[in-house]
Amino acid sequence: MTGQNVGRRDFMRQAAVGAAAGTSIGIVAAAEELHTAEVPSVAAPVQPVPLDLSGIPNFCGHEHWGSIMALGTVDEGFRADVLAGALPKRPVTVWDLVLDPYGWGWLTSGGSDLGEVMRAAGRKDFFTWWNEDPAGAFWAAKPLLERHRLTGVFRCTVRGIQALHGVDIASFDSEAWSEADLRVAAAYEDIHTWHPQAMAKAGFDGLVRAVHPEFYSRADDLNGEIREKAYLRTVMRIDPLVKLWSKKCVRRDQLADMTGVDPVDAKSWREFIGRLLDRARDGGGVGIKQLQAYTRPLDFQPRDDGDVKFRGSLTDGEERAFGDWVVHECCKQAHDRCWPHQVHVGTNNLAQSSPLPLEALAKRYPDMPLVMLHCWPFLSEAGHLAKQVPSVHIDTCWQAVLNPAFYGEAMRMWLGYVPMHKMMCSHDATSVEMAAGSALFVREMLAKEIAAVGGGRDAATALLHDNAARLYGGKR
Ligand SMILES: [Zn+2]
Repeated sequence: MTGQNVGRRDFMRQAAVGAAAGTSIGIVAAAEELHTAEVPSVAAPVQPVPLDLSGIPNFCGHEHWGSIMALGTVDEGFRADVLAGALPKRPVTVWDLVLDPYGWGWLTSGGSDLGEVMRAAGRKDFFTWWNEDPAGAFWAAKPLLERHRLTGVFRCTVRGIQALHGVDIASFDSEAWSEADLRVAAAYEDIHTWHPQAMAKAGFDGLVRAVHPEFYSRADDLNGEIREKAYLRTVMRIDPLVKLWSKKCVRRDQLADMTGVDPVDAKSWREFIGRLLDRARDGGGVGIKQLQAYTRPLDFQPRDDGDVKFRGSLTDGEERAFGDWVVHECCKQAHDRCWPHQVHVGTNNLAQSSPLPLEALAKRYPDMPLVMLHCWPFLSEAGHLAKQVPSVHIDTCWQAVLNPAFYGEAMRMWLGYVPMHKMMCSHDATSVEMAAGSALFVREMLAKEIAAVGGGRDAATALLHDNAARLYGGKR
């Protein structure tokens, strides 16, 4: 660990020097400067001095590193979340990081359809286009991407690429993109060496990724699996389970083979969930996760066994009842194991993703720490629950990726209201580069906002590291 610590110290020093030399706000450098400045002799309103957060590591409690197209997908989802130790299927390009599922998705949803541009040019796949005709691909993407250059996802990824690979692509200089591409490809030649190296450089000392239940029984590469386990913890996604009710279901049959239990009624479903969680535990799992707020409200009603249909053709109402039952059973078993449960809140399906209905679930299973993810734009509601319910926590992950200012807004609201042992700062990033960029924004704003409420390094340490380390099992 000594090497890592030295690496982290070096990184923080470099970050301070880089920030001071560049145009971005150099928190550490600014703090040093202000500390040494003379105290004004007249009582004038003084701006709080941002805290120096150097040396405080960041525990990433919720990430998706590897959800990029170079690693690809399988039927169940991203390969990195289904197969342990997944390796890229082709060289990773700088575009895999920038046009990740968020970047590509928001380009399209915002009305800049790069897919359409690509098809008009007779291309099927952007990444192949870049490899075969870099100039053509670059000049096609540039005008669309430039419209998004002020948004969080672009800024986080660009900043992370600069911090970890030493190339600034923000100016859209084509040579810089080519250079970044070479460096990214080289780093990802050995992804399970690159991840821990980049973590040390970015000041990350813990990583939790949400994976599918199959992850604990399937590997892409055995050597990769061993090396991945050395730096990765996981939480098991339970949302796939709520879809396993139809009469014919290949995925359920495969999971039944894996666990030795075919879930067909309440009793066998309880056993099936128990065996999946046991497998997860044996494979390094430390909790569960769901994102049902994408498709339904978070008011999970308790259901009696006799009121639930577990297999067949279900009506919408029956499907809702089945989903409620599965979520409650997963929560009960998580409560028995004292496992945290990460719940997606806000940001998608906005009309239905308010966290307020989670209060009942949290109170029913008090030994299950309930971690609300993202929370924007329900910042007030999330803050209220974290303050009022002992087991409810907040993770600010994805806020900086949406817009760094959202994180600042959340901290201004919560630091003076929510106790400091309830908040965590992960990044919900699809690559370590995006997470590293998000972390730089988070550190800058956290230093400023903690100082503004008169807090110190203990608060920063709790938010950046200790709270997540406590929930997800401390240091490995
Ligand atoms: Zn996520």
